Amino acid sequence: MVNENEIINKLASGEIKLHEIEKYTQSIPEAVEIRRKFMETISASRLDNVSHFSLDMEEAMKKNIENPIGAIQIPVGIAGPLKINGEHAEGKYYVPLATSEGALVASVNRGCSTITQSGGANVRIIDDKMTRAPVIKAESVMEAMELKKWIENHFNELKEAAESTTSHGKLLKIDPVVIVGRYLYPRFVYSTGDSMGMNMVTIATESALSLLSKETGAHVIALSGNVCVDKKPAALNLIEGRGKTLVAEIVIPKEIVHKKLKTTPEAIEEVNMAKNFVGSAISGSLGFNAQYANMIGAIFLATGQDEAHIVEGSLGITTAEDKNGDLYFSVTLPDVPLATFGGGTRLETAKECLEIMDAYGSGKVHKFAEIVAATVLAGELSLLGALAAGHLARAHRDLGRG
Ligand code: NAP
Repeated sequence: MVNENEIINKLASGEIKLHEIEKYTQSIPEAVEIRRKFMETISASRLDNVSHFSLDMEEAMKKNIENPIGAIQIPVGIAGPLKINGEHAEGKYYVPLATSEGALVASVNRGCSTITQSGGANVRIIDDKMTRAPVIKAESVMEAMELKKWIENHFNELKEAAESTTSHGKLLKIDPVVIVGRYLYPRFVYSTGDSMGMNMVTIATESALSLLSKETGAHVIALSGNVCVDKKPAALNLIEGRGKTLVAEIVIPKEIVHKKLKTTPEAIEEVNMAKNFVGSAISGSLGFNAQYANMIGAIFLATGQDEAHIVEGSLGITTAEDKNGDLYFSVTLPDVPLATFGGGTRLETAKECLEIMDAYGSGKVHKFAEIVAATVLAGELSLLGALAAGHLARAHRDLGRG
């Protein structure tokens, strides 16, 4: 058996690769420690804190991480209670938020309390799907159009091939089928149960493409052709949706706007128009909102979601209206990939955080989606309220001076 120092020396000389340490040790924890010590040696760093963790690294290495050296820690705080009037989440919830941004949890908490006092957020799931869009190269635009027709005419066979790889995934449609020059981008759209589904739909689409290639000779350039659109901000996702498409709304009586947010419905409406609509429009932003990414990011990190999907969750539009003197306020999130099963949700800390909301495992993803939407509503409302209160305070000062 090679000892620790020998392994570190061989790692330094390149004789052993970082991913090969496990071959020379008795256990995974031992390999993790040697890899960490090697990093300390070559970087002159001390990884005392990265070395402290309770995750089962052997389990994590099966699906979640390669070359582990430990775990990072992000503080997790709680916002709530947050009253939700959803179809799947009904009642008061406490939401775990992992962040290093001071004031975020406090701000969301203020929004939760405003919403709860106003009777709770109405939340609905408008759509639920996961997509994979490969890129296929045809000989000519004419052949690209023939392939498009073939796909449309043989949907049932493609569906059967895709669904042969999964018991939970269902191919709902292949739409749109985009043609650019002689390239073809069929967008495969699935329902994926309680999993976020990217692995699932990748495997299923690969199977459907085998059939397509066999029957038509289609030349697949890449399994993903970026029309999915995975982990990038995209107008297609804003319009068509991806993951969970969510709306949360609330009517806040003007007395509560005054008391809790120290402002008025008109001031919030004006800030939303000037900032979220006009400001976002002139800057070409796809996020017509103030801070969806803050709440999405903090919930995603706490609950083991794929953190790169925060970029998709940042899309969406906030509306604010003076409704007979009260404030109507809504958030629309077209693109929130979520899971309560699979991916990073199986990590111990993620499971615990999901359990705070009774949102871990099979049959829970829709409840979780509604809690996420209501939390985004709370954070968005609180920030718009704070900006409007500043606007109001300045207006009062200016008026006082005048
Ligand atoms: P997963 O961890 O493979 O979990 C999904 C699998 O769990 C399903 O395929 C399903 O098996 C099974 N399952 C059991 N109970 C289920 C239930 N109630 N609902 C749904 N499925 C259930 O991962 P995933 O959700 O497909 O993908 C998420 C992972 O993909 C994340 O770790 C993410 O980082 C990664 N990812 C992959 C890609 C890629 O291109 N491959 C891209 C982005 C992210 P059956 O299919 O047999 O039913």
